[in-house]
Amino acid sequence: MPSRRQFMFVLGSAVVLGPVVAWLAGPSNSAAQTAGKTFPVQKTDEEWRRQLSGDQYNVLRRHATERPFSSPLDREKRRGTFICAGCGHALFSSTTKFDSGTGWPSFWQPLPNAIGTSIDRALFMMRTEVHCARCGGHLGHVFEDGPRPTGLRYCMNGVAMKFTPAA
Ligand SMILES: [Zn+2]
Repeated sequence: MPSRRQFMFVLGSAVVLGPVVAWLAGPSNSAAQTAGKTFPVQKTDEEWRRQLSGDQYNVLRRHATERPFSSPLDREKRRGTFICAGCGHALFSSTTKFDSGTGWPSFWQPLPNAIGTSIDRALFMMRTEVHCARCGGHLGHVFEDGPRPTGLRYCMNGVAMKFTPAA
């Protein structure tokens, strides 16, 4: 496919080479990235479909993105822990949550061993995808425009999480 090669060459000249090489070598969408990995919690697609709501399934297992400002967790201000809606794994503490104004629950740091990341090449963008370290469920993306102290913004789908208030 000459047109694709040309496209890659233009990209290679315009941006750093590393990600392009990764793009050439990798699968074409982010769902395939996590699909090939194994996680402590393994379920069939059918089992996930039965367990999750339609919206939860589309985000966690199909990498969909919820409408901004649609999740009550975006406005959650109590002390507590945000856990994976797929497997209950603890993901974020309320102490690292901040209002990014994007309409998605945002954090500047995950809990230890909470998440994994992969390169997401969907929609002709290079983004860092974030998933649950225990079940591999897609949670959102992380960007480097967050507040101190990390400078990171974990932009999460509220529907992919549940909130447990502190006792
Ligand atoms: Zn999980």
